[in-house]
Amino acid sequence: MVAMHGVQKFFGSVQALTDIELTVAPGEVVVVIGPSGSGKSTLCRTINRLETIDEGVIEVNGVRLPEEGKALAALRADVGMVFQSFNLFAHKTVLENVSLGPIKVRGQKKADAERRAHELLERVGVDAHAHKMPAQLSGGQQQRVAIARALAMDPQVMLFDEPTSALDPEMIKEVLDTMTDLAKGGMTMIVVTHEMGFARTAADRVVFMADGRIVEENTPEEFFSHPSSDRAKDFLGKIL
Ligand code: ATP
Ligand code: MG
Repeated sequence: MVAMHGVQKFFGSVQALTDIELTVAPGEVVVVIGPSGSGKSTLCRTINRLETIDEGVIEVNGVRLPEEGKALAALRADVGMVFQSFNLFAHKTVLENVSLGPIKVRGQKKADAERRAHELLERVGVDAHAHKMPAQLSGGQQQRVAIARALAMDPQVMLFDEPTSALDPEMIKEVLDTMTDLAKGGMTMIVVTHEMGFARTAADRVVFMADGRIVEENTPEEFFSHPSSDRAKDFLGKIL
């Protein structure tokens, strides 16, 4: 579903990604962990081309990432992304936040898009707030709207970059539960998170990054009980 080969990414003289080789199969849930500055966000952002790459190839669903234009817009629509900051349209209602993409990008009829938006909002447990403005919702509710908005485009893969880091503790669980449901439903997911409980229970594979490289990847059971690299042992020693 997602394949990255020989990917290199520089920011000036800083190499943010080095020799990235990563393939994610349909329905697979990959959790990416690693210290701050290790390139986790950059990795996510290259997959829907919010960042360009300097070398290598990235494919989504067998299609090489286009450089620009309509093909890129189409590809972006296939890759849902949820960020730490919810990035909802502040001056649109919750319902509009979820239905506008399908209307504008997918050409759906308003009534159809709104019906689907209600279904998705129901699925993430916030349909009662459909007619409110984002600022009237809690952080956890807003993040669930952001997830519904991404799902409304029928993405092939969902990228999550620390979706719970900006949330108060009591709201983290509701967002993680929503993500766990998605994972169980067969969604292909790449999730950057510090929530090791989620990694243990929902991930098929853990990818550990350090200094822009994938240092280690394994099943969560193996990774957490027998990390092989010193970097991973050191990292786990600090956070667990
Ligand atoms: P964190 O856990 O703090 O979110 P991260 O693993 O997501 O870190 P990235 O944000 O991908 O790390 O950053 C990787 C490297 O690239 C870091 O050295 C960072 O300073 C650098 N970097 C990231 N974005 C930019 C940018 N827009 N301009 C310059 N350097 C950048
Ligand atoms: Mg980051």
